Amino acid sequence: MNPFSLDGQTALVTGANTGIGQAIAVALSQAGAEVIAAGRRDCDETLALMGRGRQMRLDFSDPMAARDVFASERIDILVNNAGIIRRADAVDFSEADWDEVMDTNLKALFFTCQAFAKAALPRGRGKIVNIASLLSFQGGIRVPSYTASKHGVAGLTRLMANEWAARGLNVNAIAPGYIETNNTEALRADPDRSKAILDRIPAGRWGRPEDIGQTAVFLSAPASDYINGAVLNVDGGWLAR
Ligand code: NDP
Repeated sequence: MNPFSLDGQTALVTGANTGIGQAIAVALSQAGAEVIAAGRRDCDETLALMGRGRQMRLDFSDPMAARDVFASERIDILVNNAGIIRRADAVDFSEADWDEVMDTNLKALFFTCQAFAKAALPRGRGKIVNIASLLSFQGGIRVPSYTASKHGVAGLTRLMANEWAARGLNVNAIAPGYIETNNTEALRADPDRSKAILDRIPAGRWGRPEDIGQTAVFLSAPASDYINGAVLNVDGGWLAR
């Protein structure tokens, strides 16, 4: 048996229409999984890149949107990637921006994990991979709800691993560094900020969505069966500085 193969596994990836989620969907598919690309809009491009698989509409403006998704069919791997960011000084930050980010990044993630676990725990096997952030470890600036939500993702990942590891579920997270996606386009377009970031990355380059995709394959595969509650930095060494 190849411990890195996902043959025969079904995976659901949220926010799979673009960026990191798209790269994760493609990587899982290439590793052999049947992938359900979930998004609040169509995932046609991701499906075309995978060459197989399915898509599903899932909009976390309702944090309970995934409540019934796992009851009707067997899904072995859940990747919680969907996430948003809102920027403003802490002193001016609005309640609406607080609620929107916390509902999407933390509340929806938790209740999606819960719905998955209700179906997977009786089977005694399942993998959850949550997408955290450098801001699961650092404070950041002008992103209070994002930082709170991503610290929460790391904490919940550990809690769920504690509760479910003995019953066959692996719950882990990936904390990406600075990755080239739409999310970071404005940063990369600003020469001073872009240089300041690059100068701090020991690996000497920005991350690519594929870097996160390959890590998600590892955390979804039998090769990582003894990893529980890890929040794995994939950041070119940023946090090692
Ligand atoms: P993108 O903005 O490119 O992708 C975010 C994804 O989340 C999109 O598919 C988006 O859908 C989806 N999404 C947002 N809100 C909702 C919602 N209400 N319901 C369903 N889907 C939703 O960003 P990235 O690919 O960069 O980010 C992916 C994840 O990685 C996020 O959790 C982010 O916090 C995290 N991350 C990214 C880093 C980076 O440097 N890029 C660094 C650290 C963490 P839509 O296209 O419709 O908006």
